[in-house]
Amino acid sequence: MITMNDVVGDADRFVAVCRDHNLKITPQRTAIYTMLRNCRDHPSADQVYRLIKKDFPNISFETVNRTLLIFASIGLISIVESTSGVRRFDPDLNSHHHMHCIRCGKIIDFQHAGYDALEVPEALYEEFPVLAKRVVLHVICPSCLQSGEEGSAGGVVA
Ligand SMILES: [Zn+2]
Ligand SMILES: [Zn+2]
Repeated sequence: MITMNDVVGDADRFVAVCRDHNLKITPQRTAIYTMLRNCRDHPSADQVYRLIKKDFPNISFETVNRTLLIFASIGLISIVESTSGVRRFDPDLNSHHHMHCIRCGKIIDFQHAGYDALEVPEALYEEFPVLAKRVVLHVICPSCLQSGEEGSAGGVVA
């Protein structure tokens, strides 16, 4: 649920983090960040590029990709796990968990206090400094479930 406060706070954070890292605030960068914030499905650089091109027809994929990597390197967004080998970007830096659709690759956020409180086994801590934790559920999303049902009703027999 996005409230007006979140939106205002977001824009402030964007400006503050960019200033901190001497990153010039350009209309393109602002648009890329805003678009990412409004995207709830952890887009890849390619998806961001396709969307942003509608407003900035001359922007190149390289520029979009580089911008996303810069955003990630200054902590504005994060790069999240992906099983397809394509980098996926996440603008939500608060603790949250992911449902990963194994059919279409969609990554959906969810909150669960019980998972936030999960304890890392102490033996692990000793060997591996744990920097963050997130629960990833492998799921089949509603639209894939639906198209799967339609597909099987179509009756392709192998
Ligand atoms: Zn899916
Ligand atoms: Zn996420």
